[in-house]
Amino acid sequence: MPTAPGVPVAPRPGASRAADQPGQPPAGDTPPDLAPLALDLSEMVTTAPSLDLLDATEIPSAPAAEVTPVPGPATVEPLVAASPAPMSPAPVSDEVQVEATPPAAESEAEPESVHILEPYPEQSDTSQAPSPYVYQGPSLYIVQITPEMAPVAKVGGLGDVVFGLTRELSIRGNHVEIILPKYDNLRYDHIYELHVAFQDLWVPWYEGAIHCTVYFGFVHDRKCFFIEPHSPDNFFNRGAIYGFNDDLLRYAFFSRAAMEFLFKAGKHPDIIHCHDWQTALVPLFLFEIYQHLGMTHPRVCLTIHNFKHQGVTGQELLRATGLGRPEHFFDYSRLRDNHNPHALNLLKGGIVYANFTTTVSPRYAFETRDGGQGFGLEPTLHTHHLKYGGVVNGIDYDVWNPEVDRYLPVRYGLDTLDGKYDNKRALRHRFLLADNAKPIIAFIGRLDPQKGLELVRHAIFYSLEHGAQFVLLGSSPDARINADFWGLKRMLNDSPDCHLEIGYDEELSHLIYAGADMLLVPSQFEPCGLTQLIALRYGTIPVVRAVGGLADTVYDKDYSHRPLHERNGYVFENYDQPGLESALGRAIACYYQHPDHFRELMKNAMRSDYSWNIPGMDYLNIYNYIRDK
Ligand code: ADP
Repeated sequence: MPTAPGVPVAPRPGASRAADQPGQPPAGDTPPDLAPLALDLSEMVTTAPSLDLLDATEIPSAPAAEVTPVPGPATVEPLVAASPAPMSPAPVSDEVQVEATPPAAESEAEPESVHILEPYPEQSDTSQAPSPYVYQGPSLYIVQITPEMAPVAKVGGLGDVVFGLTRELSIRGNHVEIILPKYDNLRYDHIYELHVAFQDLWVPWYEGAIHCTVYFGFVHDRKCFFIEPHSPDNFFNRGAIYGFNDDLLRYAFFSRAAMEFLFKAGKHPDIIHCHDWQTALVPLFLFEIYQHLGMTHPRVCLTIHNFKHQGVTGQELLRATGLGRPEHFFDYSRLRDNHNPHALNLLKGGIVYANFTTTVSPRYAFETRDGGQGFGLEPTLHTHHLKYGGVVNGIDYDVWNPEVDRYLPVRYGLDTLDGKYDNKRALRHRFLLADNAKPIIAFIGRLDPQKGLELVRHAIFYSLEHGAQFVLLGSSPDARINADFWGLKRMLNDSPDCHLEIGYDEELSHLIYAGADMLLVPSQFEPCGLTQLIALRYGTIPVVRAVGGLADTVYDKDYSHRPLHERNGYVFENYDQPGLESALGRAIACYYQHPDHFRELMKNAMRSDYSWNIPGMDYLNIYNYIRDK
């Protein structure tokens, strides 16, 4: 099990409190102490070792586009307001001020059930206020170096993040380029005007060099470079993205090649943004090699999408990449793995050398640093806590939006909410479910232990026994897990209230998000989670466990300290059946007993802004903050 068992989960004040025993405050309701994450410029500079920072004479080659100030969200407060302390950097320079809204005060006592039909603040109240999230810095030249980008090379959420974030940065007037491996299984049907951009790139590798060609193409308007090595190693012509014995060397090579390309092409971005262990060597290459060759301008942001995978390897890597100097890199303060003194840990190296490291939600940032979920990197995160924070992912509202969703039989929005029920009927029709007054509870996701599969299973039976229908869409690469769910499917085959769809079907997922009344996400751990964000957009009420990004985005209807109009779902703390039942039971009861309240909750959910608007500005503030370090 990847999570540390028994880790106390401390919800943030003002955010989603859960109550596993209705009417009782949840256990461990203590705000985590995150105060040190407030950034201090002077200290931050000293935290990156050997980074002979900023030669101010370097001039970036970014186009001087104007930044168009974008108004802040009209309907929700900044996400940082939900954190005990701003984990994304609150710039402290004179140039940019980001206000951190203090957490909401603890209330005296919780009512057992808070009805949400009380007067709401007018939308215009919040939209008139100046947003602390308007980015006021200059336009930047940003290069994303990434192993994945949707839809051309997507395995998981990382690919979606690069795709969505890149567009947000571009529409704000920044110049953004993306560097990817040229996999043989890229979705070439999504790449336009593909052509050779750099014919002969020789990338140092062991004692020699590998000849590469760099291609350029547009992926839905995003400017992408694809690196193709010509070597018998055949690094990226394997018909799959990951899963090979030499994955570490493949991505070490890619990282080195991307840096060599920037150097040889004379590119001097303000910011290089790299992702996960696969590209965590980028800041090492920059500050240990290319800076000495004159590449003094770029600064590096590393985003970690899941701490479970860290890239732990041996000394060979230093020889292959030309980094050499084992005595230097095996130092505990640099790459030496925190547990195995004979191994190098690439993710650790990335944290040490990057100018800033983010993960995909503030809560997960806390859990990885202080909640036992850092998979051994906790001491490293503590050492570098001044340059570590969490930014919740966004979702692409061009794709996930019931008003324009081309996969829905009937489109709908806040003002045409009844259209949702046409989709509910269509979903029932598709799965041959009974057309009755019951709510539909859905689960969509990988059938991975991380997702809380025991609780999913329990929820199916609980729902059927408590007057609800249940729909599941999921699959697993693990044959045993698939077989388990096939067994369950056969067992429930005759039920008019249940359908399990074992497989991956993007189009069908749209209909389920639209047609279901509630979406269950009972994860053991969840760095950010996208399904609950999509569900909110479709007015489908999330029922989630209070971990990671789920805790940062779903606010319990009855027990959150958030204002009533921001509460958008049901939350439970404990990873056990009573915990799950406490939240699911309340959701089902509200659906039957207070349909008007349930409908208001749906509207709250649909008003939540989980687009890239706010995270885009968070990242720009981080970039701008590290630019002068
Ligand atoms: P993770 O990255 O851990 O898999 P996320 O919640 O971050 O989980 O993202 C899951 C994404 O994959 C969502 O967009 C979800 O709709 C989609 N998804 C997961 N399983 C399926 C499936 N079986 N069919 C269609 N889409 C799926």
